[in-house]
Amino acid sequence: MTDLTKLTAVEIAGLVAGGQTSAVEVTQAHLDRIAAVDGRVNAFLHVDADGALAAARAVDERRAAGEELGPLAGVPVAVKDVLTTKGVPTTVGSKILQGWRPPYDATIVQRLRAAGTVMLGKTNMDEFAMGSSTEYSAYGPTRNPWDTDRIPGGSGGGSAAALAAYEAPLAIGSDTGGSIRQPGAVTGTVGAKPTYGGTSRYGLVAFSSSLDTPGPCARTVLDAALLHAAIGGHDPRDSTSIPQPVPDVVAAARLGATGDLTGVKLGVVTEFSGEGAEPGVAAAFRDSVDALAKLGAEIVEVSCPHFKYALPAYYLIAPSECSSNLARFDGVRFGLREGDDGNRSLEEVMSLTRDAGFGPEVKRRIMLGTYALSSGYYDAYYGQAQKVRTLITRDFTAAFERVDALISPTTPFVAFPIGARTSDPYQMYLADLYTIPTNLYGGPGISVPCGLSDGLPVGLQVMAPTMADDRMYRVAAALESAVGTFTPPAL
Ligand code: GLN
Repeated sequence: MTDLTKLTAVEIAGLVAGGQTSAVEVTQAHLDRIAAVDGRVNAFLHVDADGALAAARAVDERRAAGEELGPLAGVPVAVKDVLTTKGVPTTVGSKILQGWRPPYDATIVQRLRAAGTVMLGKTNMDEFAMGSSTEYSAYGPTRNPWDTDRIPGGSGGGSAAALAAYEAPLAIGSDTGGSIRQPGAVTGTVGAKPTYGGTSRYGLVAFSSSLDTPGPCARTVLDAALLHAAIGGHDPRDSTSIPQPVPDVVAAARLGATGDLTGVKLGVVTEFSGEGAEPGVAAAFRDSVDALAKLGAEIVEVSCPHFKYALPAYYLIAPSECSSNLARFDGVRFGLREGDDGNRSLEEVMSLTRDAGFGPEVKRRIMLGTYALSSGYYDAYYGQAQKVRTLITRDFTAAFERVDALISPTTPFVAFPIGARTSDPYQMYLADLYTIPTNLYGGPGISVPCGLSDGLPVGLQVMAPTMADDRMYRVAAALESAVGTFTPPAL
């Protein structure tokens, strides 16, 4: 019998629609797989078996009634614990929200339900999406299915690991500085950060509101495109949502899969090519550039001189926005409340709650951001960082006058051992060196597996102009058609 957990979303949806299997069977197979392996992976913070089986039954009933099912009906999906889910625990990987069951679904979650996907549960993440390894989760690290002594990337390591461990064929992530693409790269899966404003932030617990972008994670480019199409598009409940339809990313992925990139001009970012990357990553990237050229793409080098300032600018802008966003966790409105014995002042209870509820990295960000926004330092830090953001945007604009899309490795290094970078925040921050410029600009970026280095996956990043998400899917699918997909050793 086919192992239903090894199939793509497209294959699962086809079998369900054709009646060769049922959504309940598919869901049960994934729940069994989670029960068998998640003790070693820790991808899930919460598994909603009852909710999943009920959703699956509803799909089977709709099919039995002769209803036309959508392209992802009956396909299980794992949702990063940064999105609110009605009645289902939402912790953002933090102790401060332990026990919170939101009264509403995020728009993305609503759209997942409307598409007939089956939500298996909520995935582990670095606390408040701050981190690159999922080691900053208050609920223990997630482990990389390729090597369980290594990190699965972060902050969305749970979503990426769930895919690589065959616990789910689809997952949702959120990308503020790389949290979809970087875990994708180090787990050998596909992760796409849509254009900022192309996917709704309604119900996404805010980290850095001008950067946060929810998006799709999958094992193939076409699956990611189908998920992107299902969750994307305008949402009147998000003030920065773009009132335009998502470009046809599914058609673009299918076009790319034909393996023809004739007429497509790709720019290798000079500042990110090789230099600074591990030799194995640089080598896999160079081979992929050759593969893209063989598919007909014209390859040129493009210098983006301000990209080297992206990391410092991000670590002023993101903490500044976080210090303001996280002020709402005060022990009164949500989750944890510490020290409220009837004798303490409101300020004391707030302070005790925040001290007990937030982990060290979140506290570091709040302090950095509060400092950067303080009067007297505002212009020197936050103001300067915003100017750098403009310069980076200009680099992108100039580049896209010359090329259709930019490419680089997704990360400078492969999955590192658990514990290797936790003692030095800067070493952790470097994991997002190549992904952050895209967030500052607001354009789309995708990571697609491109090779192995010492048996560990390497990702290639494709960056496109804002609202040209389709372009990156075409290039990523073409590369996938040339290099194939990568399967981790059995768990
Ligand atoms: N690793 C980066 C950070 O720690 C990006 C996180 C993200 O994209 N959510 O801020």
